[in-house]
Amino acid sequence: MEVTEVRVKLAETRDEKLRAFCTVTFDNCFVVRDIKVIHGAKGYFVAMPSRKLMDLCPNCRTKNHLRSRYCNECGRPLPQDRVVRDEKGRPRLHADIAHPIHREFRAYLQGAVLKAYEEELERAKQPGYRPPQDDFPYDESYGEEAEAHGPAQPPDTGDKRQHRFGEGILP
Ligand SMILES: [Zn+2]
Repeated sequence: MEVTEVRVKLAETRDEKLRAFCTVTFDNCFVVRDIKVIHGAKGYFVAMPSRKLMDLCPNCRTKNHLRSRYCNECGRPLPQDRVVRDEKGRPRLHADIAHPIHREFRAYLQGAVLKAYEEELERAKQPGYRPPQDDFPYDESYGEEAEAHGPAQPPDTGDKRQHRFGEGILP
């Protein structure tokens, strides 16, 4: 499978961890939105589209984000330490919606996305630059938790080898 197009929308706040949102087309026939370029402690990496993990309030059964301290519906305090942590103790707050299965394709996809990101950064320096238009606004709040989500947790079911997302690709 090939990446046939990457559209990059640079994030408004450049000093944050979340640097860009990308829409990637595969084989001219399948589009995945909301792939993100993150600048983490160890360099750039690409985060797959993901959803926030939620759990149920024990009192009213409303779904709440794992970091919520009080129920959004009934206001009762929620139990702490509901967050599942990975082997390095980092909280797991998101689950990927779409992701590569194999390390090789992960590396290929990340390379294609970061190349497009760099090209867009260059374009953005030109006078009269106009960012690409998109149908839907992106959720810029993602960046707050990007580091915790980070490259540590691809739910990688098809490739049993130990590796981390982006490992060996970026400085
Ligand atoms: Zn509740």
